[in-house]
Amino acid sequence: MTLHKREQDSLLQTYRRLPIDVAYGKGMYLYDRNGRAYLDFLNGVAVNALGYGNEKLVRAISDQTAAYIHVSNYFVQQPQVELAEKLIQLTGFKRVFFCNSGTEASEAALKLARKWGSVKGKSNIVSLQNSFHGRTMGSLSMMSNDDYRDGFGPFLDGFQSIPFNDVPALRSEVSETTAAVIFECIQGEGGIYEISNEFASALKELKRELDVLLIADEVQSGVGRTGKFLACEHYGLTPDIVTLAKPLGGGLPLGAMLASEALQDVLKPGNHGTTFGGNPVACAAGKVVLEEVVDNGLMRNAEVVGGYFLEKLASIKHDLPDTIKEVRGRGLMIGAELTFPGKTVVDTMLEKGIIINCTHGNVLRFLPPLIAERSHVDELVDALRAVLESSNVPAEVSH
Ligand code: PLP
Repeated sequence: MTLHKREQDSLLQTYRRLPIDVAYGKGMYLYDRNGRAYLDFLNGVAVNALGYGNEKLVRAISDQTAAYIHVSNYFVQQPQVELAEKLIQLTGFKRVFFCNSGTEASEAALKLARKWGSVKGKSNIVSLQNSFHGRTMGSLSMMSNDDYRDGFGPFLDGFQSIPFNDVPALRSEVSETTAAVIFECIQGEGGIYEISNEFASALKELKRELDVLLIADEVQSGVGRTGKFLACEHYGLTPDIVTLAKPLGGGLPLGAMLASEALQDVLKPGNHGTTFGGNPVACAAGKVVLEEVVDNGLMRNAEVVGGYFLEKLASIKHDLPDTIKEVRGRGLMIGAELTFPGKTVVDTMLEKGIIINCTHGNVLRFLPPLIAERSHVDELVDALRAVLESSNVPAEVSH
C-alpha cells in the first residue's frame, strides 16, 4: 500500500496533499524518493525562510536538543530570553510572549487586548474582511470568509468585520467601546492585498482619538519577508501588538506576540500560558533565523530578488494580458492574479517540477525562502510563461 493510501486510511482528511513522496530537502529544492528535484516556492507555506538543510540551523537545533528539549515554562530558559531580547532589539517592542503557532499568537493578542480593555469599558474587536488569522474559534470570530467559518458557529461576541481598506466603515465601526483593530498589512491567504496609505493613516488617527489598540498580524508578512522586518514599517504604522509565527522557528512550531510598553504589565502570572510555547529548541532555531535574516542579509535579498521577481511577472502580464490580471506584493510576498482559476496552472507547474500555490481561487501566491536567487526566479518564471502561453483561457475573459 502506498504512503498516500495509508494516509487516507489513518488521518482525518482535512488537507489536500500534493502527490509527492518527500525524501529530503536541500536549499531551494525538495527531492522525492526517486531523486526528482522540485523547486519549492511554496516553502512550507512561508515557513522555511532559510531553505532546507541550513547547517547553522541544524546545528543549533541539535545542540539544544542535546542540552534539553523541554523543561516547561516553570523555568527561565536561555534560548527564550535571548530570542526575546533580539526581537525587542529589532522591533522596539517591550515584551514578548511565545506560543506555538500563528493562531495561538492571534488568541494571545485578543486576550491581551480584552484584558487591557476590561478596565476601560472596551471589549469590541474590529477586523477586516478577507483576512486570515487562524483556525481556532477566536481567530475565526475575527474572520468573515465562509470557506473557513461555515458550520462552526456560533462565534464569539463582540467582533465586527469591515470591508478591506474602507475608511468610512472603519470610522463608523470603531468607537469608545472598541478595544482593538486587528489587520494584516498585506493580506496573505486573502490574495496579497495591501492596506492603503489612507487606511493606515485612519488607523493611526483612531488610535490617537479613541485609545484603541492596533494589532498587526505579521504571521505571514513578518520576519523580513517583505524587505523590512515587519511589513507595518512600510506604512509608517506602529502597532501596539504584533503577532509572528511561520518562519520564526526555522520550521519548528513557534509563534510570538510582541507587546508595547503600555501593555507590558497587563497580563499577570497565570492569566495566560501554554505548556509548549517558547520551546527551547524552537527558540534556539529562532535565533539562527533572525541572525540569517537580519544580520546576514536575507532581508535585503528578499527586497532585491523580490523586486526582480515582480518585474519578471509584470513582463509576463504585459505579453499575456489575457492570463494575468494583476501582479502585486512586496519583497518575496507576491501574488499574480489570474483571469481564471489557478488550479490547473499549479498542477501543470508541479508536473514541471515546480511547487507553487494558489489562494483565493485565482491568485498564484509566491512565498519562497528568503535565500531565493534570481536564477530560481528565472527557472520559475520561464516555466510559468510556458504554462500560461499554452493555457486555455476561458473565452469570457479573453479579449
Ligand atoms: N495569521 C496569518 C496572517 C496567517 O497567514 C496564518 C496562517 O496562514 C495564521 C495567522 C495562522 O497561523 P497558524 O497556521 O500557524 O495557526
